Amino acid sequence: MIPGSFEYHRPSSVADAVALIAKFGDEGRILAGGHSLVPMMKLRLATPQHLVDLGGIGDLKGVSVQGADIVIGAMTTQHEIIGSDVLAGKVPILRETALQIADPQVRYCGTIGGNIANGDPGNDMPAVMMCLGASYDVRGVGGARSISARDFYEGAYFTALEPGEIVTAIRVPAPAPGHGHAYEKLKRKIGDYATAAAAVVLTMGGGKVATCSIGLTNVAERPLWAEEASKILVGSALDAATVKKAVAAAEAITAPASDNRGPAAYRAKVAGVMVARALARARQRATA
Ligand SMILES: Cc1cc2nc3c(=O)[nH]c(=O)nc-3n(C[C@H](O)[C@H](O)[C@H](O)COP(=O)(O)OP(=O)(O)OC[C@H]3O[C@@H](n4cnc5c(N)ncnc54)[C@H](O)[C@@H]3O)c2cc1C
Repeated sequence: MIPGSFEYHRPSSVADAVALIAKFGDEGRILAGGHSLVPMMKLRLATPQHLVDLGGIGDLKGVSVQGADIVIGAMTTQHEIIGSDVLAGKVPILRETALQIADPQVRYCGTIGGNIANGDPGNDMPAVMMCLGASYDVRGVGGARSISARDFYEGAYFTALEPGEIVTAIRVPAPAPGHGHAYEKLKRKIGDYATAAAAVVLTMGGGKVATCSIGLTNVAERPLWAEEASKILVGSALDAATVKKAVAAAEAITAPASDNRGPAAYRAKVAGVMVARALARARQRATA
């Protein structure tokens, strides 16, 4: 289908983008890579009168290290995440996740900011950001603020962003050197959203789990942080009985829809299987 008509704006600074989006109110929409928004516009599920394209704002691109944080500009593409040496060295789960998003064509245009701000529970990066304890730098006409990824997602396509606010960057606390990580995603075919997926970041000490964090993708109206499951594993040697308990705790917080990816009960079970696989792989990779 053909989208409804709209006016296109291409500001060259964040301040101008914020002013435009505030001026247009409900009739305006931010455009990043366009790989979620434009399909919605073609289906007329979104009919913005004004598109404010962030593509001309150089400040919103790139990866930098700021103290203990890795800061990723919102307009950094998924392709650029895959190619970043800084991320490969310090937060390799982001590269692993980006490689499982869609296909190269989508990843050349799709941005990290669009992926985390979209609010689609099928997006892969939000659960990973919750797992990592990341926060989002946000700017609106009222000024700048930071929102924890774990507080950001309120429901399908509902986030903690106030009208007129733009995500400018994602701030990831670098996991400890020697940490183990894994993003396990079951999908029906290349380019598909997850039937269920799990992100794990853990550290080991003396053969036991010292810290652990687990995120879940596409098994509820919003991405999930499996806090209880993570707590169960801390202090264990990841023995089969404890992993089983943690998997059950992770499955218990899911509430997937029955859809063309399978019935709800199946998708909840797949979430558990993804958690178990991600734990095993993260354990293999942990060196401390
Ligand atoms: C065939 C196909 C398969 C896909 N498969 C997957 C997949 O497996 N996993 C996955 O995670 N994604 C998948 N996607 C979605 C893709 O990753 C999108 O690129 C991503 O969801 C949105 O990023 P974008 O830059 O394209 O944002 P856009 O589509 O431009 O924007 C998406 C939404 O976020 C808002 N927005 C964008 N940037 C900002 C910002 N900085 N601040 C505030 N709001 C903002 C927009 O207003 C819009 O509402 C797929 C897309 C396609 C077309």
